[in-house]
Amino acid sequence: MIEGGCNCGGVRYRIEGAPITVAACHCTRCRRQSGGTFSVNLVVPIAQMTVTGALSRFTDRDTTSGAAVQREFCGTCGSPIRSLIDASPGIAAVKAGTLDDPDPYAPALHVFTRSKVAWVEVPAGVPQFVENAG
Ligand SMILES: [Zn+2]
Ligand SMILES: [Zn+2]
Repeated sequence: MIEGGCNCGGVRYRIEGAPITVAACHCTRCRRQSGGTFSVNLVVPIAQMTVTGALSRFTDRDTTSGAAVQREFCGTCGSPIRSLIDASPGIAAVKAGTLDDPDPYAPALHVFTRSKVAWVEVPAGVPQFVENAG
């Protein structure tokens, strides 16, 4: 069982099973929303995720694909929790920084490296994609 939550404790979540993959996204939208220089996400089937507490939502339409991304966060403390990608129904991208224990989840791939911050280094041997993977 994977568990995590926001800074104020109002939102908690549990994920059953292992993530499909762990992806670091360097796109400008994820950067701004996460407040970090890139965003690390556990890609999980949304049916395997249980959330308690109220998530607020921003519908992000300024995406490369044109498909909206629903960015969900704690409306009280502002911690970003997950993104639901309209182009990939049934999948949630959960912010790894909100996990109680992120240690096991190093990124397996890095996407949107065309907008990677210059001083961020992708570890050697980890696959990189200029835009989306695949
Ligand atoms: Zn909160
Ligand atoms: Zn992104």
